[in-house]
Amino acid sequence: MKLIGNKDEFKNVWVYAEQREGELQKIALELVGEGKRLAEKLGVEVCALLVGKNIAGLSSKLFEYGADKVYVVEDDLLEHYTTDGNTKVISEMIDELKPEILLIGATNIGRDLAPRIASRVSTGLTADCTQLDIEAETRTLLQTRPAFGGNLMATIINTEFRPQMSTVRPGVMDPLDPVEGRTGEVIRITPKISAADVRVKVREIVKAKKKGVLIEEAHVIVSGGRAMGGPEGFEILKPLAERLGGEIGASRAAVDSGWIEKSHQVGQTGKTVKPVIYIACGISGAIQHLAGMKDSDVIIAINKDPEAPIFKIANYSIVGDYKEIVPALVELLGEK
Ligand code: FAD
Repeated sequence: MKLIGNKDEFKNVWVYAEQREGELQKIALELVGEGKRLAEKLGVEVCALLVGKNIAGLSSKLFEYGADKVYVVEDDLLEHYTTDGNTKVISEMIDELKPEILLIGATNIGRDLAPRIASRVSTGLTADCTQLDIEAETRTLLQTRPAFGGNLMATIINTEFRPQMSTVRPGVMDPLDPVEGRTGEVIRITPKISAADVRVKVREIVKAKKKGVLIEEAHVIVSGGRAMGGPEGFEILKPLAERLGGEIGASRAAVDSGWIEKSHQVGQTGKTVKPVIYIACGISGAIQHLAGMKDSDVIIAINKDPEAPIFKIANYSIVGDYKEIVPALVELLGEK
């Protein structure tokens, strides 16, 4: 690995503002908010990076959500995301403009792009971060992510190389409240790119039919674990989820048993959720499950075992059999 330049030359926090077919992805706003928080600690600016074709119009939303500058990189060859195209233009911008930090979403695109950029500019990358902070004195990015199968959280630092690069799990950072009419500086970059640089041609985009539920977007989640004992256990939870306008979640134990589809799974190898209310029924509270729901606003746990670990993070703890408690709650809530 080469050590690129003097660390002091590197300045500002960049975030890759992921867009697909001209639509800004939610992760872009989450990262702009997080980038702003980090940039304020460093006394620098947060700059969003928009790469594509006819996408300059997305800048206004990025400003409203906290970006100070937006680099707009447009070219016909960048119309669709390609690994080659994005890696080339972003790596060259890094070499020239030297950001101190670069954040990219841990989405399918981000997971493809980030390691290639890191390799091209000879820096390190911490993948799948769930928390970021700054050690002010050394301007070091503290990058926290689950390690050893989720049994501990590791904080990783990059002391030698710049930029400090992380991919960040979608759904774990809160976007800032938008400030209507807030603006900033748009900087147009003319990329040096030719057809020979882009080895993949996108001929057609065929959208996959959405499979399963989108629990990530639900305000209320009623989740069931191993105690469901079969698909019939989830039938007991459904009326409660319906009354509260929520979705059904599940632990991996329930998913692995084949009682419910994987799209419902919450946790380290499932989805990260942050609903207003999370009701955990017959779920013990293993660290891998908590990794996906611990940031919910209000956690209600129903468990027969008063010592269940889930009670340690619950705001409301109900010790008892979910088969009795859930129907009683439904009755209390009354008819729909
Ligand atoms: P259990 O741990 O068996 O808990 C069942 C609970 O139900 C117990 O607390 C019991 O007291 C209670 N109970 C029993 N009967 C009743 C009743 N009638 N009423 C009320 N309470 C009752 N797990 C996830 O959930 N999501 C993940 O993404 C995930 N990823 C993982 C990744 C790795 C690498 C590894 C190693 C594990 C992962 N796990 C994940 C598995 C995790 O470690 C636990 O095994 C799992 O979460 C346990 O599920 P559970 O709480 O439903 O079951």
